[in-house]
Amino acid sequence: MNHIVGRLLEQRDYRAIHLARHLLPFEDHKFLQPEHARVIVRGQGLHVWDEQGHRLLDAMSGLWCTTLGYGRQELVDAAARQMTTLSYCSQFFNTTHPAVAELSARLFELLPACYSRVLYCNSGSEANETLIKVVRRYWELAGRAGKRVIIGRHNAYHGSTVGSASLGGMKMMHALGASLLPEVAHIEQPFWFGYDGSLGQTEFGLHAAQALERKIIELGADNVAAFVAEPFQGAGGMIFPPASYWPEIQRICQRHDVLLCADEVIGGFGRTGHWFAHQHFGFQPDLITIAKGLTSGYVPMGGLLLSERVGETLAERGGVFAHGFTYQGHPVAAAVALATLSLLDQGGVLARLASCTGPYLQAQLRSRLGDHVLVNGIEGTGAVAALQLAPKKQGKQRFANENAVGLYCMQRAQHHGLIVRTSGARIILAPALVASLAEMDELIDKLALTLDDTARALKMA
Ligand code: PMP
Repeated sequence: MNHIVGRLLEQRDYRAIHLARHLLPFEDHKFLQPEHARVIVRGQGLHVWDEQGHRLLDAMSGLWCTTLGYGRQELVDAAARQMTTLSYCSQFFNTTHPAVAELSARLFELLPACYSRVLYCNSGSEANETLIKVVRRYWELAGRAGKRVIIGRHNAYHGSTVGSASLGGMKMMHALGASLLPEVAHIEQPFWFGYDGSLGQTEFGLHAAQALERKIIELGADNVAAFVAEPFQGAGGMIFPPASYWPEIQRICQRHDVLLCADEVIGGFGRTGHWFAHQHFGFQPDLITIAKGLTSGYVPMGGLLLSERVGETLAERGGVFAHGFTYQGHPVAAAVALATLSLLDQGGVLARLASCTGPYLQAQLRSRLGDHVLVNGIEGTGAVAALQLAPKKQGKQRFANENAVGLYCMQRAQHHGLIVRTSGARIILAPALVASLAEMDELIDKLALTLDDTARALKMA
């Protein structure tokens, strides 16, 4: 702890407590400076305020979760009502409560009839952790216990617990090698800009999908249990696969009898303008993991949605599934989730995003920033987008110092009152689904200033 932090700590300075008393996620503590630490004290709608009273537009919905914005009274009321009525109830010992039963009934109204059960948990990581156990148990019960390997993708993010980090493909996380699971394999990501071959987008999408088939054949289909992937890769850079990718993946999974699992932790609950991102990409998973937007990030909740094929096999033939959490199906989380779904649906949030604000954001991004000297490409749909920054507008040349470019952008954005995230030299946008047209304009105005600053710093403008 350096002496500045020590002095601030005595004064109960929040930045000092933050730096001295926490082991922070995905940070190298020796590079953290007190003056760069951010203390957020309040949030309303799309905006948050820091300790000094600066107002920031949160174009990331927190960590892709506050889909209905900050301070929604309906969600506060739902939580308060539930805490007053029944503050806790487990799902153990054959017990249930109205909030979780109502939530489950509602969830299955959003899905086709081929899904039958949900297993709740508290986060995306736990949902993917659960998925590993469910998948392997399913194949044991189906009499094919050899099917154990789960295939994920390089640069994917599925969480921070042992199993979910193993499914993910983040090099930095795999560097904690001793704590990873065996019987997990990875294939390439469908990242068109990062691919330096000669194929067109459609062919590249097929080629990237066929990497799955090659891996299944290499490992032997009798050993492969499942393929797990985010419909669009979030933390890896908001990477949207070519349209040819997912239908080909579905075909390959069917052909080799491999369970197709969609991690909808970011994509679920409206982000693309559909209830689930797999609906946007036109495929149908066997298992779906959910979290974040399920409760608009107001309280933790995750879950695993199971197709009838898997769910009924476990329920009817599986005996005791020895797995459960104290807080699974928590009444307060369930009540908030139910209120979230109701606002998305009856509240008209989803319909407005799909027909008006989503198309507006996408069109404005392209028309106002598409010609910017730094912007090589823009991907996205609904309330999610990524801008690929590059030294040349055409071709696939990359900055040698992509992370530094991204970091500079994030800092300039903050200077202009905008919270964005970057992944290498990709700027990631995921504003709340309730953003108004004026807020979309504010986002793009601030982003334009950020890009201008960055181009000047790179001597490109
Ligand atoms: N899956 C995806 C696609 C995610 O983006 C994340 C978190 N960003 C997770 C899983 C893990 O969720 P949690 O942090 O709630 O454990």
